[in-house]
Amino acid sequence: MKVRCPNCKEVFLANDNQKNQLENAIKKNQRLLMIECSECYKDVPINPMDLMSYEPQKDKPTKDEFDGKNCPICKDGIISFINNKEEKFWGCGDCGNVWQSRNDLIKELKSNH
Ligand SMILES: [Zn+2]
Ligand SMILES: [Zn+2]
Repeated sequence: MKVRCPNCKEVFLANDNQKNQLENAIKKNQRLLMIECSECYKDVPINPMDLMSYEPQKDKPTKDEFDGKNCPICKDGIISFINNKEEKFWGCGDCGNVWQSRNDLIKELKSNH
């Protein structure tokens, strides 16, 4: 079972233990498995569905920690995290306030305590 390391990009052969882990992960439709690369000796994230992928796997953060928190401006609204290709910001649908960065939002949340 050949695996491409997303760190050093070398292809290495999974050992028996790793092969078991990979086979289990494939069965479970897991998208991420940490495996030690035998070329660079680093623990690297592997996509069991795509062992020869050049791209390291990331667990997509589908939710932001501030998503769903009460708006610090109007107190009634709820903060939504907007993350699409064009833009990324936090906003309140009630009062229409928008925070372009996490720091701005944190500052606002702190000053309203
Ligand atoms: Zn490697
Ligand atoms: Zn608001």
